[in-house]
Amino acid sequence: MMNAARLGRAGLRVVLIDHASKLAEKIRISGGGRCNFTNLDVSARNFICTNPHFPKAALSAYTPQDFLREIQAHGIAWHEKHRGQLFCDTSSQAIIDWLRLQCDQAQVDWRMGCTVLDVQKVAEGFLLGTESGPIISGRLVVATGGMALPQVGATDFGLKLARQFGLRIIEPRPALVPLKFDSEQWKGLTELAGVALPVDLGVSSVFGGKQGVVRFAEDMLFTHRGLSGPGILQISSYWRPGQPLRINLVPSVDLEQFLIDNKQQTKQSLLAALGLHLPKRLAQYWAGELGTRRLAEMPDRQVRELARQIAGWQITPSGTEGYKKAEVMSGGVDTSELNQRSFESNRVPGLHFIGEVVDVTGWLGGYNFQWAWSCAVSCASAISSLSSSVSKQD
Ligand SMILES: Cc1cc2nc3c(=O)[nH]c(=O)nc-3n(C[C@H](O)[C@H](O)[C@H](O)COP(=O)(O)OP(=O)(O)OC[C@H]3O[C@@H](n4cnc5c(N)ncnc54)[C@H](O)[C@@H]3O)c2cc1C
Repeated sequence: MMNAARLGRAGLRVVLIDHASKLAEKIRISGGGRCNFTNLDVSARNFICTNPHFPKAALSAYTPQDFLREIQAHGIAWHEKHRGQLFCDTSSQAIIDWLRLQCDQAQVDWRMGCTVLDVQKVAEGFLLGTESGPIISGRLVVATGGMALPQVGATDFGLKLARQFGLRIIEPRPALVPLKFDSEQWKGLTELAGVALPVDLGVSSVFGGKQGVVRFAEDMLFTHRGLSGPGILQISSYWRPGQPLRINLVPSVDLEQFLIDNKQQTKQSLLAALGLHLPKRLAQYWAGELGTRRLAEMPDRQVRELARQIAGWQITPSGTEGYKKAEVMSGGVDTSELNQRSFESNRVPGLHFIGEVVDVTGWLGGYNFQWAWSCAVSCASAISSLSSSVSKQD
């Protein structure tokens, strides 16, 4: 919608095809119904991409401030929630209505509930076989998103089309997704379902083109099958099968020092001491049968070892909860195939890929929508300037 509206405003004839019958479902359900539409602090480091420099051009061509300026002018009220994350005051529908209005004002020809059956390259551009008849277009912009949440219409259409035209794909994976564990491994932990706490998480990964440990300080939630919450969603985008996570369950305190100091000063039980820094059920889990033991009676060595385990809990997920529970797909059309401003394929002139279908994945916190807005605008500006000498084009 963002791309189509701008192309229409620039005087091009645009047909917007979507197989869904309901408009912009992902916007509607995002951010708990209030759409975390951007983040005040956006840079390339908030994105995962095989070429970490690729997102820079589009992100600077259309910034969060540019988006804010537009929605404010339209009277959409917003607020900052957490770490620069911006949400609508009322509902996501405000963003959808605004985008729809932009398209209508730009005379975008809308085909909702219309499936694209096939796409062929022809002399005039592209011939699309659709349920509502053939369409010939000089350019084709593919903005069909990723595979996350197939239950609201997500498909691998964009990837299939890229493959059809010989473009390389970076292996797609579910990202921003809860992690699960073998039932055997999770046996003693199911009773912790519902426990949430702030943690510091780390996983070995490539970040900004370099191998290292990627860390997030965020909340984590225990579930019946594994781990979730913002911290886990963030780290899941970097996690690879077989890798252990390292989790500090007490990030705000040096637990080893705290317990050793407490040993000398109080008559507290181990459980009571742990309970000062951990949710009760988690303290019980870690204290186990030693819970009622007085800290003062425990050997230093045992206390230190327990504190180290809690501050450096290592656990290896068996997998992710998959696309059905993921917020995004990571991987996608290889950026080395695309121009970083127009998003046009280097191999197939006139064919553009924008948004989540491209191998650029944002962190949790409004970054994925900002990526969608930025590349939509950057692509539209590039196409418009190429077509500026022509008054009305298909
Ligand atoms: C539950 C959930 C919550 C999220 N919350 C946030 C958030 O708060 N902030 C944030 O930044 N990001 C959030 N995201 C991620 C964000 O929604 C996406 O990254 C973003 O929508 C991608 O935009 P896009 O235009 O590339 O694709 P999409 O928004 O997915 O749009 C793709 C469109 O293409 C259509 N389509 C798909 N396949 C076909 C086909 N074969 N033929 C025709 N049409 C097709 C779809 O119907 C859809 O309308 C969330 C995602 C989910 C699943």
